[in-house]
Amino acid sequence: MIKLSDRLAGLEESVTLAITAKARAMKAEGRDVIGFGAGEPDFDTPENIKEAGIKAIRDGHTKYTAVGGINELKDAIIGKFNKENSLAYTRDEILVSCGGKHSIFNLFQAILNPGDEVIIPAPYWVSYPVMVALGGGTPKVVHTKESDGFRMSPEAFRAAINPRTKAVVINSPSNPTGAAYTEKELVKIAEIALENGLLIISDEIYERLSYDGFKVTSIASLSEEAKKSTVVLNGVSKTYSMTGWRIGYAAGPKNIIKAMTNIQSQSTSNPTSISQWAAVEAISGPQTEIDKMVAEFVKRRDSIVAGLNAIDGISCIKPQGAFYVFPNVSKLFGRKYKGSPIKGSVDLATYLIDEAGIAVVPGEPFGDDNFIRLSYATSMDHIVKGVKRIGEAVKELK
Ligand code: GLU
Repeated sequence: MIKLSDRLAGLEESVTLAITAKARAMKAEGRDVIGFGAGEPDFDTPENIKEAGIKAIRDGHTKYTAVGGINELKDAIIGKFNKENSLAYTRDEILVSCGGKHSIFNLFQAILNPGDEVIIPAPYWVSYPVMVALGGGTPKVVHTKESDGFRMSPEAFRAAINPRTKAVVINSPSNPTGAAYTEKELVKIAEIALENGLLIISDEIYERLSYDGFKVTSIASLSEEAKKSTVVLNGVSKTYSMTGWRIGYAAGPKNIIKAMTNIQSQSTSNPTSISQWAAVEAISGPQTEIDKMVAEFVKRRDSIVAGLNAIDGISCIKPQGAFYVFPNVSKLFGRKYKGSPIKGSVDLATYLIDEAGIAVVPGEPFGDDNFIRLSYATSMDHIVKGVKRIGEAVKELK
């Protein structure tokens, strides 16, 4: 057997995708499974975007494109930043990649040297620490508290910085908690990052999904200095229900974008030509579908939060954005099913899928074992049924 690369020590598949694959396999076997797993909107990709993809094929846009993305898409992204974030970028400050995840991967490959630390507030999206490690760096996790709305305090941020710190990851609204930072909080974070010469990595993939009038601010837009020290990451997957099309993008300092483009040039080449044309339509076409999705997500969020809070042993704070809830399930630990105790979030998630046909993601790989993550990017019907089933399953734990 060939020995694998030492770099991969401990590397496992992404749990968000693994849970979803398990739910899909169980459904294929005829099991009745309700999925709250991967963060993937259940809405279809809007018609105008699909048509743009079909037209791209008909128009013969089926060949290699510029590695970093077609100019039409870069210009659409530049227009979006101008209009929505008051940020001015040029084409050489933009890179289009094969999904938001690919943009982040490229970035860590581009900036890290062995020993470099990247501050990641927990709970975090499962892939950040893994990608930092694959880039040769060291993730430095800063735990946040549920009572602080899962937001990193300036004090905790400052305390985590040392001479090896290279960057900080801000994901607002957050996956998995849905927490979002106010502009005032971001000002403080930017100030500390700039004082210490850190790169701010701002993952804004859930930017358009915020509720109750919460205004999502791009940290890069706070000042010219903040912009110079920030790489903004975004994509079309979540906002336009385009997860399968795989289009993400990064905006930031030229030298970083150039390095990321070179990595792409030596690895994937351009993201799919057809998807790029569809993304042009998504970003620069009518935006009315988003408002409809957001209105639907609010209803779902309110329903799932209320339903989970009504279950004895579960408590759930109401998030400002994204489409996840991150309920605290620690009161269930120690309760038993058929004599075996639920010891943590992984046991609970396993119990829920195996015994109740409910797919949730355990909190442990997000950096906090007291929680589980549920995506409410699924129908209201599923939410109502699923939460009821969770309640019944929890009652079986003695
Ligand atoms: N980002 C989504 C999630 O957290 C999709 C799966 C993944 O890439 O992690 O569920």
